Amino acid sequence: MTPILFLSAIFPARYIQGPGAIKTLPGWITKLGTKAIIVAGNTAIREIIPDLKHQTGQDFIVESFGGECTVSEINRISALANSKNCDVIVALGGGKVIDTVKAVANELNAKTIIVPTIASNDAPCSAISVVYTETGSFDHVIHLKQNPNLVLLDSEIIAKAPVRLLVAGMGDALSTWFEADACFSSVSPNEAEGRCTLSALKLARLCYDTIMEFGLKAVESCRANVVTPELEKVIEANTLMSGFGFESAGLASAHSIHNGLTQLPSTHSFFHGEKVAFGVLTGLFLSNKPDVIKNEVYAFCKAVGLPVTLAQIGVTNPTAEDLHCIATAACAPQESIWHEPSVVTPALLAECLQMADAWGKNVQFG
Ligand SMILES: [Zn+2]
Repeated sequence: MTPILFLSAIFPARYIQGPGAIKTLPGWITKLGTKAIIVAGNTAIREIIPDLKHQTGQDFIVESFGGECTVSEINRISALANSKNCDVIVALGGGKVIDTVKAVANELNAKTIIVPTIASNDAPCSAISVVYTETGSFDHVIHLKQNPNLVLLDSEIIAKAPVRLLVAGMGDALSTWFEADACFSSVSPNEAEGRCTLSALKLARLCYDTIMEFGLKAVESCRANVVTPELEKVIEANTLMSGFGFESAGLASAHSIHNGLTQLPSTHSFFHGEKVAFGVLTGLFLSNKPDVIKNEVYAFCKAVGLPVTLAQIGVTNPTAEDLHCIATAACAPQESIWHEPSVVTPALLAECLQMADAWGKNVQFG
């Protein structure tokens, strides 16, 4: 018997965003606990920690992140934090350090502070960690006891990060509305062990409208390393709206197509959000969206620099076998593609991949 799905929504306890926001980090550490460890990537250790120490006059325990969110890295940081009696675990960096820290804090029942240095995906706000093997392939997902206690984004840091990362974040955010809409229509489970609330659906729509209206200006701002109101709006869409949206509304075809695309090693050097964006484009055909919507989404992708063809995510001249491989993996039983309200088969999906690619070629060269 299928269990009853209640309406369910989960949030980070606090979200703070703005230029110079990182300076408030020491104060938040003191409010949440007594002793913190900051786990950071090498770039953050080089470029952010010295400034932070200088500005606040405080010293911190800083640990260099090993580079991949693996079981052994989670165990290593957990043991270290435990031996130093840390009750606040801070992530300073991108998606993998964030996922590791969330898993460590979950293990130790410690407080979590997430300080993303890029806005390339919607991981910071969620109660999910994606764990990889030592060789870098997907291993499993940990559903955490709770969302982070604080997500703290300094928009000056995001403005200085590579533009392509902000654009990838918009690719991930682009999927939020389409997947939320699918889950709401089909009464499918969300990522919060329930079903989509009206508030998650509406925030997912706001996420879409925000990147559509302000995405291009945000790209220009990031390119110039300047914090503008448009960049602030897109950072919020990529992180808070998309994070709440995917978790409390649900996932559908775009992320399954992403997972299918990762079957081809040639896609591995492309960002999550870039592959998700092509998943959205393919989903437009799968769900038979009107041409006016297709035109709007393709024009947006082209304008901000998201891929519109398979070649742009490393799949040049795909064979029938390649398409079959992507489509079969995307239609695995555990995939969220089954949350689409329309009929889905691997054969239909393989056709949709081709149609999305052909439409993209016209947009790219038209
Ligand atoms: Zn995603």
